[in-house]
Amino acid sequence: MNEYDSNRIYDLVKKINYKKANKIEDADCYVLNTCHIREKATEKVYHDVGRIKKNFRNKKKPIVIVTGCVAQAEGAILLNKEKYIDAVIGPQSYHEINNAIIKIEKKTKKIDYTDFEVNEKFDTLNQIRNSNSKVSSFITIQEGCDKFCKFCVVPYTRGAEFSRSIEELSDECKKLVDNGSKEITLLGQNVNAYNYNNRRLSDLIYQLSKIENLKRIRYTTSHPIDFTTDLIDAHHKSSKLMPFIHLPVQSGSNKILKDMNRKHNIEEYLEVVSKLKKINSKIKFSSDFIIGYPGETKEDFNETLKLLKEVEFINTYSFIFSPRPGTPAASMKKISDGIAKERLIMFQKTANEIKMNYRKKLFDKKSLVLFENREVNTNKFFGRDEYSNSVIVKSDKNLTATITEVKILSGNLNTLFGETIPRIAKNDFAA
Ligand code: SAM
Ligand code: SF4
Repeated sequence: MNEYDSNRIYDLVKKINYKKANKIEDADCYVLNTCHIREKATEKVYHDVGRIKKNFRNKKKPIVIVTGCVAQAEGAILLNKEKYIDAVIGPQSYHEINNAIIKIEKKTKKIDYTDFEVNEKFDTLNQIRNSNSKVSSFITIQEGCDKFCKFCVVPYTRGAEFSRSIEELSDECKKLVDNGSKEITLLGQNVNAYNYNNRRLSDLIYQLSKIENLKRIRYTTSHPIDFTTDLIDAHHKSSKLMPFIHLPVQSGSNKILKDMNRKHNIEEYLEVVSKLKKINSKIKFSSDFIIGYPGETKEDFNETLKLLKEVEFINTYSFIFSPRPGTPAASMKKISDGIAKERLIMFQKTANEIKMNYRKKLFDKKSLVLFENREVNTNKFFGRDEYSNSVIVKSDKNLTATITEVKILSGNLNTLFGETIPRIAKNDFAA
């Protein structure tokens, strides 16, 4: 979502004649777009501002603006502590960035735009063309969260759940496709909680599927409790919807899920997984895990390992619990750092074994790859298969923006390597 926001910030500042600098040292305005989900985010801001300061010693001071969730959560502190920062702008207020820049140019006082009015932001953004021209693009369709997991800052930094209208999303999507996008990833902190006048994510998917030159649709991040039957059905009915779902579970232990206020248990999670696999046997999953949550025992951790093996996630993102100021879990008793680290290493080892086993099964099989770009000065093309796995092939023909049949030859945990094949029998595809 920060990538989407950064692109839109650029679309906004173009209106007041700001352009991208060729070299980072040449900029006269810096926008640090930040994430606050785990610790060290604020330190990173001070560090980056320090680097800018050093570069501009004895030169005219550039404008420095901090946007995103660190600005939202700690804006006043940042302005107070680091005088080099001119403005803090929260994630729901960045449509005001041009006003902020103009005021700073006129040397008015420090600017703190951290009041929420998410609909105002999208009203402004709808009037400014999304100039992204990537083969694979993002669109924010939903923001914020009403779920209040005890460890998470999102409900405080991004605010309550908000969904954009199907019409404005359709329009933005058509423009991206006109610019050359073949794949769109629909974004939201709880993307499947999307609800605009009772029209759900499935309705949006069917609407976007009508755009002829749009070939692939993905969405992220889903919450298990919002996986309604209509969305499950869409995985059967829409051929453009990719069979790969990011479905964070956080822990395999019902006790920990309850302590996290996740609002679902493992049995309910597995039921969603099973319904999706039943409706479309090609579907595979990735997930997020928090390791070492307060109160996590060896038994709880073993339940997480058990779940990892049972679902055979093809990708996982795992993090040691990070206490975030202002969240209920921040005042809970932490487990020892040593134990948490040990468990994370064990978790990642198991997750990587599962991932590698899955990848080995792809070797010598055929996949459909959407190629996104050519590596600079080479004949290597980078793309992604239906499961978002990165694939590299060599080709003398320009593959960019094509969906091409590829035979996978080898691969590691990060990348698969293959060769293009002229024709393909339908039942030879890797499932
Ligand atoms: N809304 C999604 C969900 O409910 O699963 C997740 C969105 S959150 C922005 C992304 C991931 O960051 C979470 O799934 C969680 O694993 C991780 N995360 C959030 N807060 C964390 C914390 N305090 N410590 C460690 N990881 C955290
Ligand atoms: Fe954070 Fe996701 Fe929980 Fe919302 S549902 S509080 S975004 S982890």
